[in-house]
Amino acid sequence: MSFSKWFSLSSTLYLFMPAALISCNISLSPEELDKTPVNFLDFAKKPEVFDWMVGIRRKIHEDPELCFEEFETSKLIRAELDQMGILYTHPIAGTGVVGYIGTGGPPFVAIRADMDALAVEELVEWEHKSKVPGKMHACGHDAHVAMLLGAAKMLQELHHELQGTVVLVFQPAEEGGGGAKKMLDAGVLKNVEAIFGLHISSSDQIGTVASRPGPVTAGSGIFEAVISGKGGHAAIPQDTIDPILAASNVIVSLQHLVSREADPLDSQVVTITKFQGGGAFNVIPDSVKIGGTFRAFSKESFAQLKQRIEEVITRQACVLRCNATVIFNENENPFYPVTVNNKDLHEHFQKVAGDMLGFRNLKEHLPMMNSEDFSFFAEAIPGYFFFLGMDDKTKGKFVRGHSPYYTVNEDALPYGAALHASLATRYLLEKQPKSTLHKESSHDEL
Ligand SMILES: [Zn+2]
Ligand SMILES: [Zn+2]
Repeated sequence: MSFSKWFSLSSTLYLFMPAALISCNISLSPEELDKTPVNFLDFAKKPEVFDWMVGIRRKIHEDPELCFEEFETSKLIRAELDQMGILYTHPIAGTGVVGYIGTGGPPFVAIRADMDALAVEELVEWEHKSKVPGKMHACGHDAHVAMLLGAAKMLQELHHELQGTVVLVFQPAEEGGGGAKKMLDAGVLKNVEAIFGLHISSSDQIGTVASRPGPVTAGSGIFEAVISGKGGHAAIPQDTIDPILAASNVIVSLQHLVSREADPLDSQVVTITKFQGGGAFNVIPDSVKIGGTFRAFSKESFAQLKQRIEEVITRQACVLRCNATVIFNENENPFYPVTVNNKDLHEHFQKVAGDMLGFRNLKEHLPMMNSEDFSFFAEAIPGYFFFLGMDDKTKGKFVRGHSPYYTVNEDALPYGAALHASLATRYLLEKQPKSTLHKESSHDEL
């Protein structure tokens, strides 16, 4: 079925499902451009919209699913899109869903949410605690999905006013699986001119956003190595080749890569997170496994680090008569590129978020060594990634992501939904021929 046929079907569905929609008075006329973000925020804060987003987030929170296993989450998203009469494609990259709102024609602009949870046992006692042992939404991706659906609801209200198409990207497997790359390879950004993504942040105040042009999160990769010697009696070391000592030297030498070889002004990380070997007090084992992660902010530094990690492990092991093999296993754990924010989209973001939150609430975000697979999208087309504040001292302490004590301040949901909707609609408006925006132009000249 062609997209235009889909789209007329969407309109038909829309007519038959008015109960799923909540009327709003938001206008997308160029004259009201500055007010649109605030109107979106007011709409997203309406109790019926807010409570609906909170309900979605809690439902997903109770049933967390790991990388590429987001089957129920995907089903829930599709049910909500069906309710709203929004057409979508599925499956993409297994559980991924891509929705379309607008004319079905160009320009196309995308907004994105990730869907996966983490292998963490939730230790927060509350009514909607994870019902799945050993799995938890400890990075806020449940909130990301709720916010993107919130944006979808608002955009669908205005679908007849959109001059172009908003593409809703719900992707699997952000936490190490590189779901964004698989979505990209499936062609979800074909003809899309720009993409926006956000991450909820406990380090920033609610009502504020933080980002920067250029690199915002680091490129990352993981590695594993097996260091093999010759096992034997712990009291007769001369008859053995000790892989524990060799692995210890390897780890110390790896720390010299950043401290002695990297430019101090070019941030890099090498961290060993895994050291497995031996099982008895009196036996030297045959081999030891180590593993870890490395991070950098440029392709050159990343490639250099990767090469030197391999050299240091194999050659340092050799110094103590061991053999070593190093595996980067990119198929299972793809390297994440640096997330680089497009400079023009930064300006766009500043205008839209400034109109919504006030310019004093736009913060500069320093580049961080965390990584994000939004980087795959932002590498392919102009992209922009920002952090959405949720910290509120009056509501307690919000810890950083990946902790079993992680909680989301749900008051942040309307901000995320409204920013998604505003960034996309204003982008489409600004892509219109200047003649239709003459009023805005004359305003600019003043
Ligand atoms: Zn995470
Ligand atoms: Zn995350």
